[in-house]
Formats: sequence, structure tokens, C-alpha cells
Amino acid sequence: MARTDFGPPDYREMLPPIVAENYGKWLYHEIPQPGVIKHVSETGAVLYSVRMASPRLVNSDWVREICDIAEKYCGGYLRFTTRHNVEFLVSDPSQLQPLLDELKARGHMIGGAGHAISNVVHTQGWVHCKSAVTDASGLVKSVMDELHPYFSGKIKIPARLRIAVACCVNMCGACHCSDIAIVGIHRTVPRINDELVAKTCEIPTTVASCPTGAIRPNPKLKSIEINAEKCMMCGNCTVVCPALKIMDPENDGVSIWVGGKVSNARTAPMFSRLAVPFIKNNPPRWPEVTDTVKHLVEVWAKDAKYGERMGEWIERIGWERFFKLTGLPFTEKHIDSFTHATQTFRSTTQFRF
Ligand code: SF4
Ligand code: SF4
Repeated sequence: MARTDFGPPDYREMLPPIVAENYGKWLYHEIPQPGVIKHVSETGAVLYSVRMASPRLVNSDWVREICDIAEKYCGGYLRFTTRHNVEFLVSDPSQLQPLLDELKARGHMIGGAGHAISNVVHTQGWVHCKSAVTDASGLVKSVMDELHPYFSGKIKIPARLRIAVACCVNMCGACHCSDIAIVGIHRTVPRINDELVAKTCEIPTTVASCPTGAIRPNPKLKSIEINAEKCMMCGNCTVVCPALKIMDPENDGVSIWVGGKVSNARTAPMFSRLAVPFIKNNPPRWPEVTDTVKHLVEVWAKDAKYGERMGEWIERIGWERFFKLTGLPFTEKHIDSFTHATQTFRSTTQFRF
């Protein structure tokens, strides 16, 4: 394949030899112990993926550490899953137990495979993004400090459970398709500093940044104005024009969504739906969010059938019973009245002709 000067290198150049040799020949996999996935090929080859939690925002010492571990036990081969788990790809079975022992001795957590809570995928939060309503890594740390027994397999659950955090509704995490999603929401219209807008922002770009057409120019002040009726407080314009401020410690917080999944197994993929419209930001440990997420996991784990994802469970019992079992209040916010909401989005690869 011709080399280009941009984009990632061809993934085939980086496959571990055992994966390259058995490409398309893998027969099945099983999970002999939490966090260990055994893949068996029709050639008889066996590969173990050892799955470890990652803190997602990592420093170079941490990267060096996992690279050194991979060099020692599996020829340097590791990968990151879509949920930011680290997987060491072990082709020599004699190295499996020594690797597990070393990870444990170093305090790393192994788990997240199969019927478990996987690593939580999250966005940038207060560490980096300027439109973050809430923190992402801090929130995930608080949630997983409560839920890690579901990751390590100490507490069994009926199916896999994916949690995601997005620190605003632009949602660069996987919140639309996670079993439980925590999404930061602003609740106030951006405040305009006319003088600064005139000096620092491009008016046409700022107007064009609004997905609902709520912004129009204010030529008198060389600024803009916002139609509050149309504004959905997404914060897009504040990214384009820093002179608009949307951060509001009193009114910012998070919403919780449930029932999404990417998987096409048994049932079609599902979008997440609103469960809790608003919980006020309460850093550094967000106890209200943590309690709610834990409660949702416990109610689902108790009532779901074997293999039933959160969304499938809700589909079976119905939303009325979901609110009854969880004790969450049903409010007018749960009614989808968005004008352009379409029931006809094709969200599945299961087609019928
Ligand atoms: S979800 Fe929003 S605030 Fe968070 S990193 Fe993405 S764009 Fe920034
Ligand atoms: S916050 Fe979003 S909806 Fe509101 S004016 Fe800005 S871009 Fe438009």
C-alpha cells in the first residue's frame, strides 16, 4: 500500500505475529477468569488478552510502565480497547500467570471482560476542554471507586455494562450508546460581553456556530445577540467566541441516561434515554451522581435476566416499571418534545428488505 504523509499507519504493520498468522481463523473465545480472554484459532494457536483498567488521562511514567511490562511478558504487544482498557496480548501461555502476578503486585486492576463493568470512557473535562460543564476524569474516579468490584469480577452481573461520561452535550464520549451515561448540561444562556465580542470574535463564524439559529448579529455594538427561546445551551458558540460565557456554577450539572448499546447481538443497537434530568455539580466526589449510578446498577443487576443489557431489560419491563423499580421521579423533562427528533434514524445494521 502506498505510504501517505498523514493519518495513522496501516494497522496490519503492527499486528502481533500470532494475530497476523491467524487472521480470519479465530474460532471462539472464552473468559477463564476475570479480565482474561482466551482466543482459540482453528490452527490450534491460543492468544490470551489480559485486560487492565486505565486511568485514561495518563502521564509518560505510566505509559513507560505498561510498555516495559508488555516488553517483559508479551513481546511488547498491547492494545487499547474502545473503552480505554489496556489489553496485553500474550501468545506464550507460560507468561500469563507471571504477568497477572506483576500487574497485581504493581496495584493495577484486572477485569472488565465479559459480564462486567468495563473501563469507563470519558471526555476531557476540566483538565482540558473549555466547554466542560463538569469534570470527566474526577467524576469517573468517584464513580469507579464505588463500582470497581463490578470491574474486577468480585460482584457478578447479568451482562456487560458500559458506562460513559461526557462533560457537555457535544458529547465526544460514547454517551449516546452506553448502558449508563453521565452527560454534563448547562442550563443558562451564554452571557455576552459586547466589548470583548467586538474585539475578539468573528461575527459570521459565531452566528454560523449555532445549530439552532439562535444567534444573530448586533451591528450597532459590533456584537451578537442570542434568542433565549431558541438557545439549547449547548455551548458551541462559546468555543468559537470565548467572549461568550456559559459556565455557571449554580446552574451547571449532569444528567443521567440509560439503555444505550452499540452491540448488534440479540437486539439492535439502542440509543440512551433520559433517566435523571439534572443533578447539581458537587465536586470533588459528586456523591449524588455516584449514589444514583450505583443504585441503577444494583436495580438492573437484581432484576435483569442473564445476558440482558440495561436497554433490553428496560424494553422488557417497560419504562413505567423502570421508574417504579428505581424510584426515580418521572418528570415533564422525560417527554421528548424536540421538534426535529426523528423516530426514523436508522441505528442498526439489521436491515429487512
Ligand atoms: S464533551 Fe464537551 S466539554 Fe467535554 S471534552 Fe467534549 S466538547 Fe469538551
Ligand atoms: S449555546 Fe448553543 S444553542 Fe445557545 S446560542 Fe450558543 S450555539 Fe446557539
